[in-house]
Amino acid sequence: MNRKAIIVGGGIGGLTAAICLRQIGWDVQVFETAPSNSEIGAGIQISPNGVKILQEIGVMRLLEESLFEPDSIEIRLGKSGKKLVQIPMKDIAADRWGARYVQIHRADLIVGLNTRLAQLSPNSIETDSKVISFNNRETSAFIKLQNGKTHEADLIVGADGVHSTIRNQMFGPERARFTGNVAWRAVIPVEHLGALVPPPTGCIWAGQQKHAVTTRIHSGRTVNFVGIVEHSDWKLEGWKFEGKTADALADFKDWNPTITNLIKKAESLHKWALFDRAPLPHWHTGHVALLGDAAHPMLPSMAQGAVQSIEDAYVLAKSLASSSHSHIPTACNNYFQSRIRRTTKVQKVSMKNLDLFHKSNVWTQFVHYAPIWFAGHFTPTLIQKHYDWLYGKEFGPLAPTSLH
Ligand SMILES: Cc1cc2nc3c(=O)[nH]c(=O)nc-3n(C[C@H](O)[C@H](O)[C@H](O)COP(=O)(O)OP(=O)(O)OC[C@H]3O[C@@H](n4cnc5c(N)ncnc54)[C@H](O)[C@@H]3O)c2cc1C
Repeated sequence: MNRKAIIVGGGIGGLTAAICLRQIGWDVQVFETAPSNSEIGAGIQISPNGVKILQEIGVMRLLEESLFEPDSIEIRLGKSGKKLVQIPMKDIAADRWGARYVQIHRADLIVGLNTRLAQLSPNSIETDSKVISFNNRETSAFIKLQNGKTHEADLIVGADGVHSTIRNQMFGPERARFTGNVAWRAVIPVEHLGALVPPPTGCIWAGQQKHAVTTRIHSGRTVNFVGIVEHSDWKLEGWKFEGKTADALADFKDWNPTITNLIKKAESLHKWALFDRAPLPHWHTGHVALLGDAAHPMLPSMAQGAVQSIEDAYVLAKSLASSSHSHIPTACNNYFQSRIRRTTKVQKVSMKNLDLFHKSNVWTQFVHYAPIWFAGHFTPTLIQKHYDWLYGKEFGPLAPTSLH
C-alpha cells in the first residue's frame, strides 16, 4: 500500500510538496482553507534554483504562456532613476546557474501547479477546508478540520503560510518582530502607463528609508509594483489589506515619475506589514513537518520566500524517498538538517538587503552604492559570482524512479 501525506495549505509550497510526494509514489491529499481561485493579484520572481525544480517536476512547461523573462536585474536610484548596476539574466542565467530567471503572476503559477497535480493525482485538493489542529500517533498523525472531520496520514505537511496553525500548535503562539517596514503592492497593465513604463527587468529602485521593485507578469503585459517603506503605523500582515493612493503617493513623494505614475494608475493598492522571525529549532515533531513560510517566513527583499518553499518541498520528498515507513521522523529530521543553514542565510541576507536598499542620506548611499557601481561596471562577473551559492544550487533527481 502507498504511503499517504496530508498537506495543509494549497499555496506554492503545499502544491509543490503534493506534486513531489506523488512523484515518489505517495498518495496525497491537500486541504486549503480558501475557496478555489482565490489567489491574490501579485507578481512573483522565480530564480534559477526554483525554476530547475519546477522543470524537474513537470511544471515549467505549463507556465510558458504566462511567464516573463527579464533582460536583467538592475538597481537604480529611486529619485533620479540613474542605473547603479545591471546583472544580465536572460543571456547568462541558463549557462551560469542551470535555468532561466522568470517573473510570473502568482495566480498563473498556482494554476500551473494545480494542473500538474491534477495530472498526477486527480481530485486531491479540498478547498474551503480549514485545518484547526493535528495529533501525532506512534506511526501516523491526524488532522482535524473546522467542520469537525478528522483525517489520518503517514505524514502531515504544514504548508499553511506565515500565520501557520500547524507551527503555532508545535511551538505555541509565535513571537514576530515588526521590522518597521510596510510593503505596498499593485499590478498595472502596461497599456495604462503611457510613456512611463518601467524597464523590462527586475528593477530595484533604492532610496532613503524606502525602496521599490518593478517586474513584469502576464508575458510582460502587466507591471508588478512592490514599494517597501519604513513606517510604524501599520501592523497588519496579509495579502488582502488595501491602502489609499494618496498615502502611497505621499510615501513616494518626489520619486521618479515612473514610480509615481504606477501608483496613480493602480486600480487598487495593497499593504503588508513586514515582520521578522528567528529561525525555528526544528521543523517537525513525530509525523508532522513544516515547510515554506510556516517554517521560515522571510522578508521579500531577496525574492526567495516562494522559491525556498519550492526547494523545501523537493528536499522533503527526496529525504522521504530514501526512508522506510518507520523512519519518517528521521527523514523529516534529515530534511531539516539539509535545509536549515541555507534558509537561515536567505533570511539574514533578505534582512541585510532591506537595509542596503534604504540608505538614509546621500553620503551613506555613496559609501554603499559606489562599490556596487564600480563592480557592476568593471568586474560584472564578480557580482554574478555573488549569486552562485543561491541560484546555482543543484538538487539532483527526486528519486531513483519517479512518476512522470
Ligand atoms: C510583497 C511580497 C512580495 C514577494 N515576492 C516574492 C518573490 O518575488 N519571489 C519569491 O520567491 N517570494 C516572494 N514573496 C514571498 C512569497 O510570497 C511567500 O514566501 C510564499 O508565498 C510562501 O509560500 P507558502 O506556500 O509557504 O505559503 P502561502 O503562499 O502563504 O500558502 C499558504 C496556504 O495555506 C493556506 N492555509 C493557511 N492556513 C490554513 C489552514 N489552517 N488550513 C488550510 N489551509 C490553510 C492559505 O490559504 C494559503 O493558500 C513575496 C512576499 C511578499 C509579501
